[in-house]
Amino acid sequence: MFLNFKPTWMLEAIYQLTPEVLAKNNIKAVLTDLDNTLIAWNNPDGTAELLAWIDSMKSAGIPVIVVSNNKAERVERAISHLNLDYVSRALKPLTKGMDEAVEKLQLPKENIVMVGDQIMTDIRASNGAGIRSILVKPIVESDAWNTKPNRAMEKIIMKQLKKKDPEMKWRGKLK
Ligand SMILES: [Mg+2]
Repeated sequence: MFLNFKPTWMLEAIYQLTPEVLAKNNIKAVLTDLDNTLIAWNNPDGTAELLAWIDSMKSAGIPVIVVSNNKAERVERAISHLNLDYVSRALKPLTKGMDEAVEKLQLPKENIVMVGDQIMTDIRASNGAGIRSILVKPIVESDAWNTKPNRAMEKIIMKQLKKKDPEMKWRGKLK
């Protein structure tokens, strides 16, 4: 039960992903959710850590594509200073946006990973699309109003998943 919501990995933050660990897992491109994964929903500028992480991916030749349910103008405004490609109106938990990103990358799905802070949208969409996934802790504790109902459901699902798989723990790097 709830296996559709199970992430491949759990990582404290996206910044902990290094080109080395990605290479070790045969990952050549990163898809990422926007709000609360890459930037705080209430602090759209991002941090020095984020900028350094994006630089490290660029230097390693690893494309990063933002896959967001938000509309294009909102995504554009949020990440224009980061110089990242994006897919808007992704319709997560459906796979529409994931499929579009895969199309852009022209890479086999086994070489792609999706990073997100919500199992109900990001992880569900990854599993639906057949892409490995990394659940990260939300950057800020408080959520936008429209995320709150999902968070309640998420707690219930995570409890069940952890009960079945004690390996499901927050880690500082990919196992
Ligand atoms: Mg999010």
